[in-house]
Amino acid sequence: MANPLKDLSFGTLFDAALDAMWLVNDTGYVVEANTAALQLLEYSEEAVLGLSVEALIPDQFRENRDAFFKSPEMRYKGNGTDLFVSSSSGKKLAVDIGLSSIETQGHVYILITLYPAQKHREAEQALRASEERLRLAKQAAKFGIFDLDPNKMMFDYDEKMLELWGGKANKSISYKQFVAAIHPEDRAARQVELDRCFDAAGNGEYNIEYRITNPNDGIERWLSVIGKMLFEDGLPKRLMGIVRDVTEQKVLEKTLQTERAETQTVFKQQVAARTASAIAHELNQPLAAISAYSEVALHALSEPNNANPEKLKRALEGCVTQAQRAGASLHELLAFLHEGDLITERFDLNICVKEALTIAKCDGYNNFQPILLLQRKMPAVLANRIQVQKVLVNLLRNAVEAMRLAGVADNEIAVQVRTHKNTSMAHATVKDSGPGLTPETAKRIFEPFFTTKPTGIGMGLAISRALIEANGGQLWFESNTKAGATFHFTIPFAS
Ligand code: ADP
Repeated sequence: MANPLKDLSFGTLFDAALDAMWLVNDTGYVVEANTAALQLLEYSEEAVLGLSVEALIPDQFRENRDAFFKSPEMRYKGNGTDLFVSSSSGKKLAVDIGLSSIETQGHVYILITLYPAQKHREAEQALRASEERLRLAKQAAKFGIFDLDPNKMMFDYDEKMLELWGGKANKSISYKQFVAAIHPEDRAARQVELDRCFDAAGNGEYNIEYRITNPNDGIERWLSVIGKMLFEDGLPKRLMGIVRDVTEQKVLEKTLQTERAETQTVFKQQVAARTASAIAHELNQPLAAISAYSEVALHALSEPNNANPEKLKRALEGCVTQAQRAGASLHELLAFLHEGDLITERFDLNICVKEALTIAKCDGYNNFQPILLLQRKMPAVLANRIQVQKVLVNLLRNAVEAMRLAGVADNEIAVQVRTHKNTSMAHATVKDSGPGLTPETAKRIFEPFFTTKPTGIGMGLAISRALIEANGGQLWFESNTKAGATFHFTIPFAS
């Protein structure tokens, strides 16, 4: 058969080569240079021919040229050492140099081939750097890598995987051993996920968490595995992925879960206790009043011939009023606790103060001298009237109780209503002439359940503050008054 390349000349092949090449004669002059060499060294063919090789190649090579001609089979390469050739513009190019001798018609020529050393080295360095980066990333993230051939169920893995599975160095583990280490309870779920990832109709993703038991020390660990199946012609070809030890995370999650559950229980208990206390606080007063009215009624009934029907009627009416108040209070409290919509109305805070004074007196808190300092023509406020009233009654009750307990003779309570300087809100102040509060007590009065009274519940001020805040105002205690206690609250104006 005829050789199709028979007519191919040396020159054509020489020029087709991608590596730069020159042919140098035994006196050291360039007799031929291929296109790649001309381009690399930026010479025209005319300029390079007849050029001394000295002009092109490095000093180190020069020393070896004579030795090479004496023994032409010698090879001289950079092999990592820095060799340079100079271009026509004086640019130095790092290369590796390959030498081979050609003998023809009694003359020896050297074929010099240049390999772009830097490119090779850079590529090698880049590869090494990328491998190092991967190694460091693996080390930092503590993950292992696997590569499974799904057809043979054979798999490759790195040292980290081997360590997790309790394998010894240089001793491989089989796929069977690999599966055997997986926790029996997790095997089925893993198989389902594996089947899903093998399915060409799916996205090939493999994402699962399971436990494994190290066969050497019996220690159980949680692993998170993420992989991706590669398909070829609709067939699963290769599953690659990473395995991460997430045991610490799992332990932490579990601890947090337990703590959350405990906190929830404590929180619920507190809510229940506070709600019960708030209800007790609301019912305490009307129940005491009902009990007193009932005694009066019983007494009236025991009088011969129903001698005092008016007294009986008033006592029973008192019972009814108090029972209705208790019901209304409870209703308000529950609405407040359920955080339903706050029903607000425009009202005059001066009138609200007067109503509160009447209620306090009706409740038996009548042993005081009220001093009213009201702001005339005050604009209407916008709030829940019953709640503001309740706060005022509560402050008045506390004031009376404090004065009563201390046995003070001068039992005045001043109630002032004005416009607050800084906030442009309605501002109410209740100031008594009792013993006031010690600094220690003052710090704690708004805490739920804090009380210094023998039969106190300690919810009055906590509820009062919550009610005022729900209505858009603030409630606070003034600690620097000389005598007595002073409480303030603000409520927004309707405008
Ligand atoms: P309770 O009245 O059930 O004790 P409060 O929350 O209304 O609950 O009050 C908490 C505590 O604040 C009282 O026990 C008392 O020590 C103190 N306190 C409240 N108001 C006054 C006041 N006007 N004078 C002195 N102490 C007061």
